[in-house]
Amino acid sequence: MSILDKFPRVNISHAPTPLEIMPRLSKTLGCNLYIKRDDCTGLAGGGNKTRKLEYLVAAAQDAGADTLITIGGLQSNHARQTAAAAAKFGFACELVLSDVAGTPKQDYYRNGNILLDNLLGARLHLLDEGEDEASFAEQRMAQLIAEGKKPYLIPIGGSNEIGSLGYVRCVDEIISQIRHENIKLDHIVLATGSAGTQAGLVAGLIAAGVEIPVLGICVSRDTDEQNEVVLTLLKKTLSYIGLDPALAEGRVHTDGSYYGEGYGITTPATLDAISQTAQLEGILLDPVYTGKGMAGLMDLCRSGHFVQSKNILFIHTGGSQSLFAYKESFD
Ligand SMILES: *Cc1c(COP(=O)(O)O)cnc(C)c1O
Repeated sequence: MSILDKFPRVNISHAPTPLEIMPRLSKTLGCNLYIKRDDCTGLAGGGNKTRKLEYLVAAAQDAGADTLITIGGLQSNHARQTAAAAAKFGFACELVLSDVAGTPKQDYYRNGNILLDNLLGARLHLLDEGEDEASFAEQRMAQLIAEGKKPYLIPIGGSNEIGSLGYVRCVDEIISQIRHENIKLDHIVLATGSAGTQAGLVAGLIAAGVEIPVLGICVSRDTDEQNEVVLTLLKKTLSYIGLDPALAEGRVHTDGSYYGEGYGITTPATLDAISQTAQLEGILLDPVYTGKGMAGLMDLCRSGHFVQSKNILFIHTGGSQSLFAYKESFD
């Protein structure tokens, strides 16, 4: 997308990631389900944050930074990918990670993404439930600056107008893959949290003049609240790439029916969606994001929201590394 040429980017992702049919799941659900394998972006386990980091790392380099600092839950996939990108490009990395109420605790503090964050050489700051991550990160930034370091703060989930560019760019990939395979997509579905993925995808579709609707299955917020978060970032992203933010009108759709009690807390339907996708397709989802997204997609297929034999693309945004922190949920 030439609209992106002026933005600096480093090359990290193994792209294009595959876009595949899920034949057995399609048969079970009565819709043609395709999957975009962004769990295969290649950076220390991969996931959607890798595409965002291509632009965020380049921005940090431009700012002359020597340290990447970011925020998330203890099992943040974003934190893991940031730690890996920092290692790859020679930055120090500091992760401000909060405990999450209601999550299983046996392996939550040491396994999964935490194990990998440590392995990747990041410095971890572990906060208790309810501690203010943002103000902790601000203070830590000030300390680092006082020590003569040049920290660069990446927002939660890498979700700002810079990170979103990674998914504006991904739209090119998707469009060329569906054209090549002759697939007429009716819908794109994904799990939505900090919103950069959905905002970037929708901005990219708008930039390409393509009308395919995108539905975000919320992982932590009700529909109205999540719509607002996505819409705000979509408008910022459109402005950032030189398009009219008014083009965002009518393009944001989310569904807050599937997140259960809150962020990081699994639901029976989520665990079922993870098992079915594993056993019918050999594909690993995760308990925090893609499992909830797939649970929503399955329910919407079964309830007739998506008319039979429609072509639906699910974006696999990664996250299976956190399965190991959720062992108890599968016992
Ligand atoms: C962060 C994340 C998401 C959500 O993406 P946002 O851009 O934050 O909305 C979805 N799936 C996985 C596995 C993630 O790590």
